[in-house]
Amino acid sequence: MTAVAGDPDALIIGSGPNGLAAALTLAASGLRVHVIEGAPTIGGGCRTEELTMPGYWHDVCSAAHPLAVASPFFRRFGLASRGVRLLTPEVQFAAPLDGGRAGIVTRSVADTAARLGTDGPSYQRLFGPLVNHSDELCDLLLAPLRRVPAHPVAVAPFGLRAALPATAVARRWRTPAARALFAGAAAHAMLPLTSMPTAGAGLALTTLAHAAGWPLVAGGSARITDALATAVVEAGGVIETGRWVRSLAELPPARAMLLDVSPRALDAIAGDRLPERYRAALRRFRYGPGICKVDFALSGPVPWANADCRRAGTLHLGGTFEEIAAAEAAVAAGKHPERPYVLVTQPGVVDSSRAPAGRQTLWAYCHVPSGSSVDMTERIEGQIERFAPGFRDLILARATHTAADTEARNPNYVGGDIGVGLQTLRQTVLRPAARWNPYRTPLRGVYLCSSATPPLPGVHGRCGELAALTALRDIFGIREPPGISPEG
Ligand SMILES: Cc1cc2nc3c(=O)[nH]c(=O)nc-3n(C[C@H](O)[C@H](O)[C@H](O)COP(=O)(O)OP(=O)(O)OC[C@H]3O[C@@H](n4cnc5c(N)ncnc54)[C@H](O)[C@@H]3O)c2cc1C
Repeated sequence: MTAVAGDPDALIIGSGPNGLAAALTLAASGLRVHVIEGAPTIGGGCRTEELTMPGYWHDVCSAAHPLAVASPFFRRFGLASRGVRLLTPEVQFAAPLDGGRAGIVTRSVADTAARLGTDGPSYQRLFGPLVNHSDELCDLLLAPLRRVPAHPVAVAPFGLRAALPATAVARRWRTPAARALFAGAAAHAMLPLTSMPTAGAGLALTTLAHAAGWPLVAGGSARITDALATAVVEAGGVIETGRWVRSLAELPPARAMLLDVSPRALDAIAGDRLPERYRAALRRFRYGPGICKVDFALSGPVPWANADCRRAGTLHLGGTFEEIAAAEAAVAAGKHPERPYVLVTQPGVVDSSRAPAGRQTLWAYCHVPSGSSVDMTERIEGQIERFAPGFRDLILARATHTAADTEARNPNYVGGDIGVGLQTLRQTVLRPAARWNPYRTPLRGVYLCSSATPPLPGVHGRCGELAALTALRDIFGIREPPGISPEG
């Protein structure tokens, strides 16, 4: 793409969902915006490619998008009216167990509870009120965390439990299905289930499954970032790809610079322009475990032993709560579990465009120690085969990326950590450092806008939007958030 005529008002480094959300917020305010992306294509953790064979479209990173549905940024952006179709499966997520049993979560709390036998009433009592107040809960989850909740009473049932370890909340259930469902959602936090605040991840993600669904994107997650990029360009922004930024010194002058990068990269790029105290805080920022991902091209749908699992968009494999907890504890202790906790999405359940007729794609990853270059393909396939005998016979091709590969593809994922930072209680609240406004750096005009800032990792665009609103106020004196809907 061409260089901008004259100096831009704002430079954005990185074109992940947060970088593009920041770029759109600034461009829609009438500023001249220039986005610089190091990779050959835009999108960061929200891209879709033919990773295995021609005609098989795989989500390179994000696949399930409850946070995009819940995000106030994307609600204003209007994904549907920009041609992005979110396809919600009948079963939001499932936790298969040995012997053909499974826990499944559908949109309905009552339906989900009814399948949980003696644990049904307790499930209903916990999630019913959370889902009834899901709007307030989404506001809380996707707001900057250092704000007093707007609806403290409504979100109290969440707030009182969110900081707990998953083990504390799971105690209320006895059935393997209810406990496995909660373990599967809580383990997204990439922490041992005995750690705070893994209950928060389990509660938030399960509530979103009921309230918003866990949709996949027709055609692949890249449709989201493509729509954002189109809107940026329509608002006059310029996007340049294939240019890695290593130092602020190599950039054209701009009144504001927003970096969609990790705290480690911010330290390297801004270097000694930053005060030593802030640099030390960036270096103290802790990264979590990595992931090893395998994408499959399949000759047909996965033959899950449990029929309900065949309707699920997402599955959490690992078996019982105790087995998933043991796998996550092993990763935290620097080990590669023999039977890992595996996250699976099967886009073919809702989207036939991802593969040639009758064929399927499958997306799977497991957690591994930070920086690992161990290939977990065999162990991931073992877990799928365990709950879907005959799966291996369907494999036409596979593409594996270790944690080290994940970082090599996108330096934001330090050591393969897709959450960009260990999701401890401290780092959930103080991301990336203890500052009143986490987007502002001590360097005037330089902001961090990646998922290393609040509110949380995922595809919701809020880190980028909130960083851009800070820059608009600080540097350009603009206090009014711009219109970003298709109507402008
Ligand atoms: C395997 C995987 C699965 C995931 N699954 C989900 C999911 O199902 N649902 C969900 O909501 N989220 C998921 N996520 C997380 C989600 O993808 C991220 O939280 C989200 O993309 C973060 O957006 P971002 O803009 O902050 O950063 P990124 O999307 O990581 O984008 C950062 C961009 O900046 C570029 N960049 C970095 N440094 C430089 C530099 N120095 N110069 C130029 N460019 C640079 C990178 O190339 C990249 O394009 C997943 C992530 C991975 C990796």
